[in-house]
Amino acid sequence: MSTSTALYEGKAKRVFPTDDPDQVLFEYKDDATAFNGVKHETFSGKGELNNRLSAHLLQAVARAGVPTHFIRLVSERQQLCRKVEIIPLEVILRNRAAGSMAKRLGLDEGTPLKTTVVEYSYKNDALGDPLIAADHAVAIGAATFAEIGVMERCTRVVNRILGQLFLDVGIELIDFKLEFGRTASGEVVLADEISPDTCRLWDVTTSERFDKDRFRKDLAPLLEGYREVLRRLEAQEGVSQ
Ligand code: UDP
Repeated sequence: MSTSTALYEGKAKRVFPTDDPDQVLFEYKDDATAFNGVKHETFSGKGELNNRLSAHLLQAVARAGVPTHFIRLVSERQQLCRKVEIIPLEVILRNRAAGSMAKRLGLDEGTPLKTTVVEYSYKNDALGDPLIAADHAVAIGAATFAEIGVMERCTRVVNRILGQLFLDVGIELIDFKLEFGRTASGEVVLADEISPDTCRLWDVTTSERFDKDRFRKDLAPLLEGYREVLRRLEAQEGVSQ
């Protein structure tokens, strides 16, 4: 655990300064929240699992050329990252309808889509992270059109890379949320985490959920799902080495 004061404390992690002004320490907490923090529980070991899962997934997309904030794992629940100014947008990509899209459009969870959907939410807890158009994001100064272009291209590459990585271990990537940030030099890089907190992950054969929906909907013990994802990814990595 770091002893310095956190620069930022979110629902599932803390961010600490380091001696290097361009680097921060990300610490994953054991907390799980849903419905804008209304539902909240602590799961011992969740921080360690998400630290490892997020490192694994960020490194996979970095190998495919997507710039990310990840530098290296530091400890069981900490990773060193590039310091960025977070762009206040959630970029969500959907391969099937689920969650808020299924609800908004009256579709069954898992309905196939005729095209991949990329959408934006404005990161603002007081407003409940509303769905917005890319034009809104530019209009309110959250990002430029050029930055939106970079984010969308990166998000589609992440979908291709992680979609295949998960499919290789019998998991379908239903949807996911990404966040991006600007480095000191203004480069837009993938920031924050990629984990079962931020992706929907279903077993290809049984449609069992391995992600945070286990907690949101009280479907099954949360961490067994996260452990299964990590187990499959690590077993696959062992095979491909
Ligand atoms: N998501 C997230 N953080 C959020 C909202 C959504 O990580 O604040 C992820 C969520 O886990 C899912 C995808 O983004 O993989 C799409 O979520 P959705 O809009 O369906 O919202 P939800 O059903 O989670 O409210």
